[in-house]
Amino acid sequence: MQKIPITEIFSSIQGEGPYVGVRQIFLRIPKCNLACPYCDTETKMSQQFRIESVPGSRDFNEMENPVPLDKLLELLHTYDFSMHHSLSITGGEPLLWADELQVLLPILKEKGLTIYLETNGTLPDQLLKVLPWVDIISMDIKLPFNGQAFWDVHESFLRYSLPKEVFVKIVVHEETISKDLQQACDLIARVDPSILTILQPVTKTKNINVPKPYQLLEWQNLFLKKLINVRVIPQTHVYIGQL
Ligand code: SF4
Repeated sequence: MQKIPITEIFSSIQGEGPYVGVRQIFLRIPKCNLACPYCDTETKMSQQFRIESVPGSRDFNEMENPVPLDKLLELLHTYDFSMHHSLSITGGEPLLWADELQVLLPILKEKGLTIYLETNGTLPDQLLKVLPWVDIISMDIKLPFNGQAFWDVHESFLRYSLPKEVFVKIVVHEETISKDLQQACDLIARVDPSILTILQPVTKTKNINVPKPYQLLEWQNLFLKKLINVRVIPQTHVYIGQL
């Protein structure tokens, strides 16, 4: 039986993007192929993972990593999905585990779950492995950092995502460059100008500052010249003390 490492499993309120406020089960998987300067997530793989004893209780039990897929399914089935909008598969970058997810997700779909994938949008070939069982794709477009740019893989990823519900999220901060935003906007417009695009002001971390109000207005204008649906939505879970 295949195994997969887990970081944590818990019930919480989605804090980002157009589904902000819905209740979800979060399945967080470790490891990431990027190292974004504003990353606020623990991505390293531990010998143990934590799972809420009762969904939403914040009372966690610890279990051994990696976990066999049949055991993980058993654990997920103890959760009451009727009060949850969807299962959020998040990370790290969950598509690093596409081989394991392509075994897990069909079984979860058979149980009637809505699968919501949160991804950095840089692994298009891995997306294809799980695409049939994903309902909603929250895809990041990462603006260039540390001399790395991701335009080509992002464009492929977004094109592959089109058969599903997909929206794009772009984290912006005080030092964000308009030229990069224009490139992101052009990329989305080439694929489909009606794709919902979220500009997400960074939550202040380390030396990375929240954009000024005038910057957000200018940047939304920039996107609205080519795209139909552009919203500015901050990370709301941090304001209400949610995980
Ligand atoms: S893609 Fe996400 S998890 Fe990975 S480093 Fe960037 S912010 Fe962190």
